[in-house]
Order: sequence, then C-alpha cells, then structure tokens
Amino acid sequence: MCAVRETARPATDWDHCHTHGLIRGPLCGSCNTMEGQGKEFLARPGSLQHLLQ
Ligand SMILES: [Zn+2]
Repeated sequence: MCAVRETARPATDWDHCHTHGLIRGPLCGSCNTMEGQGKEFLARPGSLQHLLQ
C-alpha cells in the first residue's frame, strides 16, 4: 500500500532518495508524481513523515 496514508491505494513504485539511493517506501503513482512537484505533495497527511524516513 502507498506509504502516504491519506490515499490508501495500492503502491506502484518504490520511492527512493536520488541523492543517496536509499528506499523510502512504497508510493502509489499519484503520490510518486506529486512528490516530484513539491508543495501539493507536502500537504498530504503523512507525506512529511514519509520523506523523513
Ligand atoms: Zn499515494
């Protein structure tokens, strides 16, 4: 399932840190796309916690 809890959707991608190559967790396609676009993603409950992992 997507690690950003608001959505409760099946995950489609492993989100990873582009600087270090570490896996943060599973994300659905919607969150994965939004994450690259910035502030709207940060408004989703659970997104900040996800990024800090
Ligand atoms: Zn999601």
